[in-house]
Amino acid sequence: MPLYDYKCLKCSRECLPALTMKEHETGAATCPACERTELRHLTTKVIARTSSKS
Ligand SMILES: [Zn+2]
Repeated sequence: MPLYDYKCLKCSRECLPALTMKEHETGAATCPACERTELRHLTTKVIARTSSKS
C-alpha cells in the first residue's frame, strides 16, 4: 500500500495520512494536526522500504 506524503498549507506540517488510493485521487486528505483539507501533495517521496522480514 503506497503512502502519500503531504504538506499542510495551513500549518506547514508534513504528514503521511493513511489514505486509500481513492481518497488520494479525490483529494480527501486532511491534515492530522489542524484537520484542514488544504494539503499539498509532495510527489517525490515514495516510501519504498523493503520489508523482507516475512
Ligand atoms: Zn495542518
